[in-house]
Amino acid sequence: MATVSTIVTTKAGTDGLRPVVSMRGIEKRFPGVHALKNVRFELMPGEVHALMGENGAGKSTLMKILSGIYPKDDGEVLVDGQPVVIESPRAAQDLGISIIHQELSLMNDLTAAQNIFIGREPRLRFGRLDEAALNRQTAEIFASMNLKLDPRAQVGGLTIAKQQMVEIAKALSFHSRVLVMDEPTAALNNAEIEELFVIIRRLKAEGVGIIYISHKMDELKRIADRVTVMRDGQYVDTVSAADTPVNQIISMMVGRALTDSAVEVPDLDQAPVALEVKGLTRGREIRNVSFSVRKGEILALPG
Ligand code: ADP
Ligand code: MG
Repeated sequence: MATVSTIVTTKAGTDGLRPVVSMRGIEKRFPGVHALKNVRFELMPGEVHALMGENGAGKSTLMKILSGIYPKDDGEVLVDGQPVVIESPRAAQDLGISIIHQELSLMNDLTAAQNIFIGREPRLRFGRLDEAALNRQTAEIFASMNLKLDPRAQVGGLTIAKQQMVEIAKALSFHSRVLVMDEPTAALNNAEIEELFVIIRRLKAEGVGIIYISHKMDELKRIADRVTVMRDGQYVDTVSAADTPVNQIISMMVGRALTDSAVEVPDLDQAPVALEVKGLTRGREIRNVSFSVRKGEILALPG
């Protein structure tokens, strides 16, 4: 570690900042799929860097390589400017890299605190679990996140949002400097998204670099500093989130310009009726329901 910090102080750029993560020339093949082709990616400390692309573009695969879940076939990964080999999630953790998965990976039967310190619980004499220390250390992490949650709460009984917060707390317990969030808001409601954003901003202020995978353009504009777009396993470009119009980012994702005709709205009053339902009834559940849908129309059935 001493070597690394020496190099940080001697080789840092004029602004004192250099990427905490650089990935270059990354290649990955699965049977029948060339998932990553010469992909590069860079993350600065304290940056929220959005990784965007259509389904199957290779975003999760790239992040799984960074977090030691998949081996890469070729290319290099540098952390603080130093080439590293990340052959396991444990190795990633030791480098300060944590991933919050799309599908959460906590143990439902354990408490929040037990999940966070699983496999490295504080112990008393004779190896007995030190519950008090476990819950106190967890409470300290929650407090640092401004998160109101009982360390003894059983994870299976928590909302998805709270479970995600527990995952983030776990990442912070490893003193992570790089946090990968793979579609973190997919299962969150609006209030929960706001809570998550507060935490992301706090982490950012502390210098944690965050890689944020999302399809939601409004979120990207609100939270991201830069955006890297991938398409078909390839790197497309990295642009400023604030200065790049949403249309341009979408064009980069789909690989063609968005023309007006692509979003032209048909005149629905003139459109022929595609389906008409009159007086539909089934027992007590459905009584005398009528509706019609015109060609090109989107009909919502709220309730
Ligand atoms: P994204 O996260 O951008 O939606 P992925 O990284 O999940 O894309 O997938 C990129 C490509 O790699 C897709 O074609 C996907 O089917 C394939 N792929 C991902 N993981 C595996 C795997 N474990 N085995 C085989 N193919 C995979
Ligand atoms: Mg994915």
